[in-house]
Amino acid sequence: MDSVKKFLSKNGKVSVICAQTTELIEEIKQIHDLTPTTTAVMGRFATISGIMGFTNIKEDDDKLTIQIRGGGPAGSLVSVVKRNGNISKIKAYLDNSHVELPLKENGKIDVGGAVGNQGFLNIIKKNEMAEEGYTGLVPLVSGEIAEDFAEYFAKSEQKPTVLALGVLVNKDGVQASGGYMINLMPDSTDEDISKIENALSVAPSISQMLAENKSLEEIAKTVIGDEVTLLEDNLKIEFECDCSKETFEKALISLGKDDLNEIIQKDGKADIVCHFCNKQYHFTKEELENLIK
Ligand SMILES: [Zn+2]
Repeated sequence: MDSVKKFLSKNGKVSVICAQTTELIEEIKQIHDLTPTTTAVMGRFATISGIMGFTNIKEDDDKLTIQIRGGGPAGSLVSVVKRNGNISKIKAYLDNSHVELPLKENGKIDVGGAVGNQGFLNIIKKNEMAEEGYTGLVPLVSGEIAEDFAEYFAKSEQKPTVLALGVLVNKDGVQASGGYMINLMPDSTDEDISKIENALSVAPSISQMLAENKSLEEIAKTVIGDEVTLLEDNLKIEFECDCSKETFEKALISLGKDDLNEIIQKDGKADIVCHFCNKQYHFTKEELENLIK
């Protein structure tokens, strides 16, 4: 079962968030008809997007829009994250769902090759009640996603962060997906840091630990190399698209009279697909004519 838990260790000087997102990523895989390669890409991207709902959103009216443009064959990745109490709500898509690349020499899925590393990770935070937002932009390190977000936290937020994301997928679907994020408070000692580094150097990958049915607490202990105390339980990441026919009515109206008339004359109707959830909306000729009025 999917869940997210937050732990503290080293007398509160270290925090770790662990997330199991296997069901979430299987759901997104089916919505977007993802291949194994794009499932691994989207699994990592959606997991960290969902985690950021807990680390970077405080108010329910705040919204994060996260984009990766790396120039690789998968195209751009986009997610939108909102928060509703204990739930981080995300919707996400990538441009080319059907990209499939050969495995790398080490047998791993070539996430960096699919995403590319010639571009940027861009994070826009906005409160729906406010005009101004915050934008953080960092060049991609590798396109492997975890490294790119760790760079963002270090450079844009001055928060030294250890981040691991992993997806295990085979022809039957998503076998395991999740991630963990370790944050060190400024008063962490060198001894604490080197102990964590030692623990990380021998810890199995996150997808392997999840596939072995390790609990999130066991995973937190393994990657910290010490006892942990539970800080927040029953957090959850859910997929939710808030699109409606109205959303697309507004989009059609914003095209303007001339373009709408052209659509009516050429096609006599409009079928629009939501990028985020693949839901289709049909507009008849009469509906389009009403929009012009
Ligand atoms: Zn939608």
